[in-house]
Amino acid sequence: MSADTVLSKLKEINGKYSMFHAMTEDTSADGASFLFSAKDNLTSMDMETCSGSKILIGYRPAFDATSIAKMRAAGGKLIGKTNMDEFGFGTFSTNSGLEVPRNPYDLERACGGSSGGSACAAAVIEDHVSLGVSTGGSICCPASFCGVYGIAPTYGRVSRYGLIDYGNSLDKIGVLSAKATDLKKYMKIIAGKDEKDPTSCVQPEFRTDYRMMKSVAIPKEGTEGLSKDVEAAFKDSVENLVRMGIDVDYVDMPSLKYAMPAYYVLATSEASTNLARYVGMRYGQQEGDLSLKFDDYFTSFRSQYFGDEAKRRILLGTFTRMVGFRDRYYAKALQVRKVVIDDYKRILADHDAVLAPTMPFTAPRFDDISKMSALDSYKADYLTVPANIAGTPHMSVPCGYDSNGMPVGMQFVADHWNEDVLFSMAEDWEKEFDMKAPEVGA
Ligand code: GLN
Repeated sequence: MSADTVLSKLKEINGKYSMFHAMTEDTSADGASFLFSAKDNLTSMDMETCSGSKILIGYRPAFDATSIAKMRAAGGKLIGKTNMDEFGFGTFSTNSGLEVPRNPYDLERACGGSSGGSACAAAVIEDHVSLGVSTGGSICCPASFCGVYGIAPTYGRVSRYGLIDYGNSLDKIGVLSAKATDLKKYMKIIAGKDEKDPTSCVQPEFRTDYRMMKSVAIPKEGTEGLSKDVEAAFKDSVENLVRMGIDVDYVDMPSLKYAMPAYYVLATSEASTNLARYVGMRYGQQEGDLSLKFDDYFTSFRSQYFGDEAKRRILLGTFTRMVGFRDRYYAKALQVRKVVIDDYKRILADHDAVLAPTMPFTAPRFDDISKMSALDSYKADYLTVPANIAGTPHMSVPCGYDSNGMPVGMQFVADHWNEDVLFSMAEDWEKEFDMKAPEVGA
């Protein structure tokens, strides 16, 4: 499909899958070397940016996020802002205040989250790359549920300028695509130190002669609690890796089971402070009864426009930071974070990557998600959060299909700044893996 055809069919495609909250009106790709989309928590000058929240409806940023600006400068045309969980709070993109994206392999199932719309766009639109954001797994989870490649880089690799913060010490901007070679191609474009984001680093360049992945370590704890189909697809994939000449070891990673609770303490602590700025005065919606006292105005506004999950996280995160509780929760979670990093360093001293399935199950049906408690959904993240609290680069590759034809993904985690071994793995894997694209017809 040519770029012009994609643009002319965009509304029709979106009508079926709901991957975009905002779209370009332009139907000509003249002058663009490639088309891309971006998660709706990255600010863009020409399109509304809502971060999946009703509270930001009407917000038109006055500047582009650095990652979007860099994609445009490289010749990219931004075609849409992708649907997501409100402020990134979720695992299925169903916690959105706006539209919920539908899985390209089965419209009754979720795309994963919170970069669900980005994974959907990467799976459905030919030759398409989408920028996603991961705080605790929001690139790898939807990549796995939608059968595409997704990479979240080392924390600090990509500027967070223009990213609507979820958890400042955790947020990372990365790339999703159906093509393995796109990961390196577009990561090179968006990476780099940026004066506007003090947490972006002077960093090692991606190498052109990167070393190949030779060994992986599978934590025993990472193969527990899997659905039968994920277990079977993962087993076949590991056999495939062995055939490709990769050494596979099974190791202990005791910190893995503590990472999920620690993540939810850290992420909600940071999120609860970040959400304090949305009070109906500066961004997005500003209607309200101005005759109220200021704190009554803020309360009524926030009660009306924040979704349930955002409210839950404000409560949780405020509690974990409170005097009397912060040592027990926040400080403790920081200690766990250090233990997780130490565990990765120990394992990665002898291996190129740590490997496990990306998610313990394949994309669930919407009716099953509605029966899940918040805790059920948090628990589903136990394989994606460890790398995120460690700030280590990680990548999900499609590795099989379940009995309903839904994609399964596996996740490789490399040491800090070692994205190159992930790129090499993705490109080698793509040659081995029999990818079954979804049937797309608008
Ligand atoms: N599911 C995790 C959460 O809800 C991760 C989301 C993310 O990475 N934005 O926090």
